Amino acid sequence: MKITFPHMGNTYIGVKVLLDSIGIEYVIPPLCNKKALENGIKHSPEFICLPFKTMLGDFIYGLENGAEVIMNGASCRQCRQGYYGDLFQEILRSIGYEHKYININLHEMSFDNFYDNLRPYAKNLSKFKIIKAMILAALTVLSVDKLFEAANHIRCKGTKIGSVDEEIKRFRDKVHKAKGYIKISKLISSTRKKIKLIAKNNKHKKSLKVVIIGEIFIASEPFTNLEIERRLGNLGVDVYNTMSVGMWVREHFIHNLIPFKRKNKVTEAAQTLIHTDDIGGHGVDTVGMAILYSQKGYDGIIHVYPFTCMPEIIAQSAFSTIQEKYGVPIMTLILDELTGEIGYQTRLEAFVDMMEMRKQMKSSNPIYAKDSG
Ligand code: SF4
Repeated sequence: MKITFPHMGNTYIGVKVLLDSIGIEYVIPPLCNKKALENGIKHSPEFICLPFKTMLGDFIYGLENGAEVIMNGASCRQCRQGYYGDLFQEILRSIGYEHKYININLHEMSFDNFYDNLRPYAKNLSKFKIIKAMILAALTVLSVDKLFEAANHIRCKGTKIGSVDEEIKRFRDKVHKAKGYIKISKLISSTRKKIKLIAKNNKHKKSLKVVIIGEIFIASEPFTNLEIERRLGNLGVDVYNTMSVGMWVREHFIHNLIPFKRKNKVTEAAQTLIHTDDIGGHGVDTVGMAILYSQKGYDGIIHVYPFTCMPEIIAQSAFSTIQEKYGVPIMTLILDELTGEIGYQTRLEAFVDMMEMRKQMKSSNPIYAKDSG
């Protein structure tokens, strides 16, 4: 039986390594695209968030192309993501797609959870095999993250526009066809070397520094965030995306394995403004990250989330206090399938111009710099 799973940024690369390592066949939908989204929209409730619609489109593609099992993650925290699994199954069955559904609990990811869920679909699956496969998948996600971090860092340093993007495009084409941990990690490291070489051959320009926070699906999926990292990089901005898939693997998988409880600095920071540790999704992280990154010398913060996302709407209400206290500008971008590219680009350009002017004012007027954090 073949398994299919939805896209969310670079998650598919880690999932490929996981399934290749335990010998399960799979169908990967093409990278998120307009056609799949339109398919998802056609069968989704009108006001459901954008991630639901793109995932539904991916499932339809997978089931139409030979998969019989869907593997998806969900959490049971305080937003509608907890109902996604039931809703997907109900919609897909109502439009004629029979399937089996594997629900991975994203907040308590464990070896046992994966073992129990995947055992019926893999021949001779042992606990050792699943542990090894999950470790290789996690390592892959972390190194893909490093590759994309390097791309963001180098894209803005006076390199020829498009040169880093060409390498990333070549990587995406090749990784789709590559199988197994060894081949994929070789591809990641050779692409990283090529990107570093681009930096070596270019003059280094001082750039503005921006951090991206917000809802993880939108922040990590270039199709739904209209390639925000590429757009900012080509405007000369060094971008750090806090909501990468690697962050999520560290927070919800690696840290779960550590037996002692550690301090969560992001939640602690958020609790200086909101008196709870959960408002659903990554809402608390958004507030905590906005506070922490306001103190780390960034020129601006960009907050992204999908239209109707309740946790991020709540998080956004803390920003006026944060901006007043730390003086770092925060721009919120709310996205859905109707977001227009030209208006989006204009907002990014205006934000970059404003940060540039602010920086110049700060360097020419020390009093301003002191007053505005
Ligand atoms: S966090 Fe927001 S976008 Fe994600 S499922 Fe919840 S409401 Fe939807």
